[in-house]
Amino acid sequence: MKKISRDRLKLEEYQYGLAHHDKIILAKAITLVESKLSSDEQLAEVLIESILAHTGKSIRIGITGSPGVGKSTFIETFGKFLTQQNKRVAVLAIDPSSTVSQGSILGDKTRMEELAKDPLAFIRPTASRNALGGVAHKTREAILLCEAAGFDIILVETVGVGQSETMVRGMVDFFLLLMLAGSGDELQGIKKGIMEMADGVVITKADGDNKKRATEAQAHFLHALHLFQLPDSGWSPQVLTASALQKESIDEVWKMITSFQVHALQNGWLNEQRKKQDAAWFYETIQNQALSFLLSNPAIQEKKLQLESAIAEKKITPPYASRQLMEEILSRFKG
Ligand code: GDP
Repeated sequence: MKKISRDRLKLEEYQYGLAHHDKIILAKAITLVESKLSSDEQLAEVLIESILAHTGKSIRIGITGSPGVGKSTFIETFGKFLTQQNKRVAVLAIDPSSTVSQGSILGDKTRMEELAKDPLAFIRPTASRNALGGVAHKTREAILLCEAAGFDIILVETVGVGQSETMVRGMVDFFLLLMLAGSGDELQGIKKGIMEMADGVVITKADGDNKKRATEAQAHFLHALHLFQLPDSGWSPQVLTASALQKESIDEVWKMITSFQVHALQNGWLNEQRKKQDAAWFYETIQNQALSFLLSNPAIQEKKLQLESAIAEKKITPPYASRQLMEEILSRFKG
């Protein structure tokens, strides 16, 4: 506990550090927003509000793909490609399977070793599980902090089974899906939902013997994507092949993303999308806060547990259980 309080800075120190692009202060600020201590939560809220004017100028890119598809290798090569052009790159990673303290996807120090050493890059895992077992939403705050600290490009990496992808889609501008040729990815139903969210697909490891298969997969995915409705952005998702190991076609990926950015800025979609994302964030926060508040009441908590058992035993349906719980809640708050 002592250590935590020593790590905390004054509001002005966070603000000064962020304004001066200090990565150590940025890391501390993210730790602050992830903290569950109520004094930290209050400070974090004031901090985020105070930096809002300095946010929103980056391009926010979500990157997803199955384990082993080559995400960390891709992000390292892509990140280095960007920093070589003097761009500042922040990588935030969300791992739905574990909390940061229990070891996360970036806990392994060997990932993105080169990028981690790059003065223009910042790499950070973010906590992903909250008390209710759902996915916590501190990544949004982390994005804002990175923007205030002068990062031009924010890469939000996720690996999961749908839930974390949907969450990340709701906080980025461009959603990139990494796929492997011939891995059976194309057959998995779950991928269809994720593909529908993608603004771009990159077939990874397109080198050596894999090159031909990657080109075949490219045609396959392009066909599959064109069966979906054109997204609201009016942007036709593209499918590329690339090799992060051989550093091939990495520039093409960046070209795709910048073309998207120009398109989405020109037609006003990007601006609208960010407004919608903020409204959704507000709505989600109300839901979470209201639920935590209600469940802090022991009688309501007890009723919830009873109803959960009844649902598990197939005695009642979830909507009926929800109505029952609402009745319990209303009876407690009447008068
Ligand atoms: P992640 O689990 O999605 O982060 O995947 P990794 O980046 O750790 O890559 C998994 C494996 O694929 C590693 O052994 C990498 O060396 C290999 N790999 C990644 N990118 C490439 C590539 O472009 N070409 C080839 N041939 N292998 C790659």
